[in-house]
Amino acid sequence: MTRNAYEIALMPGDGIGPEVIDAAVSVLSDAAVRHDVSLNYTHHEAGADYYRKTQMAIAPETMDAIGKADAVLLGAMGLPDVRYPDGTEIAPQIDMREHYGLFASLRPCRLFPGVPTRVRAEHVDMLVIRELVEGLFAGRHDKIAESNDSCSDRLTVSRKGCEQLFELAFRQAEQRRRLHGTPGHVTLLDKANVLRSNAFMRKIFDEVAAQHHDIATDRIYIDAGSMMFVTNPERYDVVVTENVFGDITSEIAAGVVGGLGVAPSADVSETHGVFQPSHGSAPDIAGAGVANPVATILSAAMMLDWLSEKRGDERCSRAASAIRAATGAVLAGGPKTRDIGGAAGTREVADAIRAALSADALAA
Ligand code: ATP
Repeated sequence: MTRNAYEIALMPGDGIGPEVIDAAVSVLSDAAVRHDVSLNYTHHEAGADYYRKTQMAIAPETMDAIGKADAVLLGAMGLPDVRYPDGTEIAPQIDMREHYGLFASLRPCRLFPGVPTRVRAEHVDMLVIRELVEGLFAGRHDKIAESNDSCSDRLTVSRKGCEQLFELAFRQAEQRRRLHGTPGHVTLLDKANVLRSNAFMRKIFDEVAAQHHDIATDRIYIDAGSMMFVTNPERYDVVVTENVFGDITSEIAAGVVGGLGVAPSADVSETHGVFQPSHGSAPDIAGAGVANPVATILSAAMMLDWLSEKRGDERCSRAASAIRAATGAVLAGGPKTRDIGGAAGTREVADAIRAALSADALAA
C-alpha cells in the first residue's frame, strides 16, 4: 500500500546538535528505507546561535512550520555565553513546549549490555516522565518587581494538567508491559508532606490510579526516591513527577544507565511530539566529532514508535525496533564513544549502527 511520506522537521540547534542530528538522520533514513517508511525532512534554524544573528530564539514562522510537521527531531539548543538580558539562557525548546502544550517529557533509561555504570545494578529499564509546562516553571513569565532583597518562583499544578499527566503515565505502564514485558507499575515522586501543591498532585494521582486497577503503584517522597535511583534502580518501571523534580531525577536515572550520551527523550502532547536527546549542546566537545550519537538515535526510534501509535502504522514500529536492536548490538560490541569507555567518533558509531541494521536485515 502506498502511503504519504511523514514530514519530519529537523532542528539541529547549537553545539553538538548538528553532529548528533546528522548521525541520527543517517541511521533513521536507512531504517526507514528498509521498512518501507517514507520520510521527508525539512530543516529549521533556532537556538542560541540563531539568537546571536537575529535577536530571536525562534522565528514565528518556524514555530508555525514545525507544528505542521508530523514530528520534530531536535539536536540541542542553548550556549552558556549567549543569554537574554535577564541572565537566563536561550531555550526555544521551552517556548515550543508552551506553544504546543507539550505537557510531558518521556525519558526512558535502560541499561544496555556493554555500557559501563558505576551503580551496582543488573537490570535497569525505567521510564521517567517529567511534567513539562507547570510545576516550578509555571511562573516563568510572571512579572516580578525588581528587588535586591528577595526573588521567587511559583509552583502551580492544575487538575487538568495532573490528570493528563497521570493518564499518560498509566497508559505508558500498560503499553510497556504489553510490548516489553515490564511489570506494569507507576511510582509518583513528590513532596506531599510539605508542599500543598504536591499533596494536591498526590490526591489526583490516587483518583487516576483508581481507574487503572491492573497497574501497581507507589508514592514516594522525592528525597528518598532520588536516593533509590542509585541504591535500587531496579525497583522503578514508570516514574512520574513534577517538572523540576523530573528534570533532576531523569538526569540521575540517565547517569545510572551510562550518562547523557545514551539517554533519549520525547516531549509530547496528544497531537505533537518533539524528540531529542536528554543532553544539552555540550559546548566543551562541540565540533570535535566525539559526541555520542546514541541518545539522538534512540530518540529517532521513539519518534517512529510515536508515529506508529498515532497513525496506526506498524512499519514505523518495525523500523524503531530495528534501530534499537542495531544500537544495542553496537553498544555491546563497539565501537563506542569515549563517554561510555570507547575511543570512536560520532560518525564511526553511526556507521556501525547502520552496518548492524543491514546485517540484521540480511539475517532476517
Ligand atoms: P542543558 O542544561 O542544556 O541540558 P547541561 O549544562 O546539562 O546542558 P550538557 O550540554 O548536556 O550540559 O553537557 C554535560 C556534560 O555531558 C558535558 O561534559 C558534555 O560534554 C557531556 N555530554 C553531553 N552530551 C554528550 C554526548 N552526546 N556525548 C558525549 N558527552 C556528552
